[in-house]
Amino acid sequence: MEEDCEEPWKGVSAEEERGKCVVLILIGAPGSGKTTFCNHVMGPSSRPWARICQDTIANGKSGTKSQCLKSAVEALKDGKSVFIDRCNLDREQRAEFVKLGGPQVDVHAVVLDLPARLCISRSVKRTGHEGNLQGGKAAAVVNRMLQKKELPKLNEGFSRITFCQNESDVQGAINTYSALGPLDSLSSGCFGQKDSNPKVQLGIMKFLKKVEPPDNMVSHENSSKEYVSKEESLEKDKRYMGLEKIISSVDNADNDLPEGSLVGGVALNDVHTLAFPSISTSDFQFNHEKASDIIVEKVDEFLNKVENVGLVLVDLAVGSHMLSLVRAKAAQKNIDSKKFSMVVGNITRLHTEQGLRCSVIANATNWRLKPGGGGINAAIFSAAGQALEIATKEKATSLRPGSSVLVPLPPTSPLYKREGVTHVIHVLGPNMNPQRPNCLGNDYVKGCSVLRETYTSLFDNFASMVRNQIAQKGSSQNCGPVYSELPENLVHGNPIDPFPNTDQKIKREGRHDSDRNKKYKGLPVEQTTKDSECQHSGNSGVSESIENTRSMSGFSDVAEVKVQKKNDGDGANKAWGSWAQALHRMALHPEQHKESVLEMSDDVVVLNDLYPKAKRHLLVLSRMDGLDRLADVRREHIQLLRKMNSVGLKWAEKFLCDDASLIFRMGYHSVPSMRQLHLHVISQDFNSHHLKNKKHWNSFNTVFFRDSVDVIEEIDKYGKATLNDESLLGTELRCHRCRSAHPNIPRLKSHISNCKVPFPATLLQNGNLVVAPARAVKEA
Ligand code: AMP
Repeated sequence: MEEDCEEPWKGVSAEEERGKCVVLILIGAPGSGKTTFCNHVMGPSSRPWARICQDTIANGKSGTKSQCLKSAVEALKDGKSVFIDRCNLDREQRAEFVKLGGPQVDVHAVVLDLPARLCISRSVKRTGHEGNLQGGKAAAVVNRMLQKKELPKLNEGFSRITFCQNESDVQGAINTYSALGPLDSLSSGCFGQKDSNPKVQLGIMKFLKKVEPPDNMVSHENSSKEYVSKEESLEKDKRYMGLEKIISSVDNADNDLPEGSLVGGVALNDVHTLAFPSISTSDFQFNHEKASDIIVEKVDEFLNKVENVGLVLVDLAVGSHMLSLVRAKAAQKNIDSKKFSMVVGNITRLHTEQGLRCSVIANATNWRLKPGGGGINAAIFSAAGQALEIATKEKATSLRPGSSVLVPLPPTSPLYKREGVTHVIHVLGPNMNPQRPNCLGNDYVKGCSVLRETYTSLFDNFASMVRNQIAQKGSSQNCGPVYSELPENLVHGNPIDPFPNTDQKIKREGRHDSDRNKKYKGLPVEQTTKDSECQHSGNSGVSESIENTRSMSGFSDVAEVKVQKKNDGDGANKAWGSWAQALHRMALHPEQHKESVLEMSDDVVVLNDLYPKAKRHLLVLSRMDGLDRLADVRREHIQLLRKMNSVGLKWAEKFLCDDASLIFRMGYHSVPSMRQLHLHVISQDFNSHHLKNKKHWNSFNTVFFRDSVDVIEEIDKYGKATLNDESLLGTELRCHRCRSAHPNIPRLKSHISNCKVPFPATLLQNGNLVVAPARAVKEA
């Protein structure tokens, strides 16, 4: 059997006068239209086809994968091409079928990557489905399956992959395969709506200096939507042409965008989104660290001033250094990932390729505002057509570094029609490349100041465009972005709703900053949007729901708060090494550890941390057996949490009597290293030789550290605490007061020993710091 599978062409004479058979592996969720696809091809096709469907393989009943393989082999031996009509969503599922390929058998994939919402609604509505996947259960199944979706790659063994993201793509693929006669063959490569103009992509690749343009790229067939390159370059092409969507929440963005996002260029609910590239960091060679700091600073500033807008930083390159830097820094700054996200993809095809609706895109242009020159400028001018050139000339003929110009895109522009882009903002950043005009040499004082100006100008233009649109729509619809007249920290977006509407805005007026604090601490499920509750009503996992909420916005994760995959159950299963049991032993048998124990009661044991990370560092241990860590804590433990908090507070206050200069913070590690729930009470000097590495620092100074008061509040409200990911421990070292970044622990320590900047307002105002009464006034 296996032999048969691997060499199904055995027995077929190479001289035989007939074309190659095709194994066409359909890839798509239930409801994506796989069976319909097969039927539409088989009807008119002159090529003999067999449809292999696991739902009916056993005499019309559901069968096994090996039955499918066996049937496929038999059909191929009969000279038939075969459809593998099953979901085949991950590589493993496809692997056996791919092995059917050989000298006389080409293996193709058609990916029916249609919006999840469409697949779900089709599955739910259908009756008499072969596999009985219909009705209410279908939604959950489709959703679950899509989580595992793994887009196919040529290196799996496919000679041709066709990606279909909408009905017209599907129809195109049906036409291609139904016209395939017995002697015909199709070209190898990846096809789909990924690029309408290879030259533009080459320009972008050159601009990014990430890859040599594939020299073997040739235009293909009649379709302007298709391109093909020789197989050996395809992997490379795919990476840089955004064929792989690496951000899962963007993956099904058609499904996930909130109702009322941009459709055909009209913002139905006045949520406007600007997509922009990192300015000056590619061709103009601006230092990435500095540039990423500036991006995050400016984005933060902008989002704090303006509501109902979204920003998307776009880079064509998978693994982009700039995106990683900005992602980490945005997370450190707690920038709302629903308002600011990072996307890998082509800025001129964000809607068609990523499902994102960005009504405004920024173009890093040249001082003459002329098309060409390669890079993003060439790509945008080319995608927008002559209309953009003409519209640009009407606005300006040149640009100085640090400035930008807003150009409305005529509705005739293909970029407007296809992508819903209504405006392009041309920007010119500082140049550090001696090969380009106006090079600033290595003057980063000037460079940084010009780059700041550039982003300020870009964002101001974006805001003014949005304001104008709202003004045009009339004051009766008082929504859209709002520049706050209030102090910065008093107006912020709804913590969960990615793009709040008017009512929410009204409610928000005057809301205190503590709401913002909550937002940054990652509220659990119950506060997700209505939509996500509807769509995922069967899903109670914290992580899933939060991820769903994110994806509802169509935005990717900035990674500021990655919620642990599982929030329940696994605490008891974790294998704790014997070294990790010390606290557990002391909690259960404090009488055996009298020398270490500072206080003991029925509920808690207090002791000094054996490896204090600050001048004062205590642990308040719960004595409850089986309550190993924060993940295990539920509503029934709330009294215990309160007790631990009050004991911790008492000890902090005691220390403050001795040394009023100390400041304390009390909290839990999201993922502790030691067994037995324990509260850290730690002074904020971090003056200790035990604090040796990044992990130590970040475990107390990122959202990995969950403040006791917040935990109590969350448990009270939601029954669970939000747990944040261990990846935070690897993020850069930042001062906990002024947030400045430092390259290593000694430098950080030297900085913090002198830093007198008040603690972030988020900590001060939420009662997360315990300070001496006289000092409280000063710190605030
Ligand atoms: P966590 O990462 O939250 O589990 O923190 C565990 C804490 O326990 C660390 O701060 C350690 O320094 C501390 N620790 C480890 N072993 C002992 C011990 N035998 N006695 C007291 N503290 C300990």
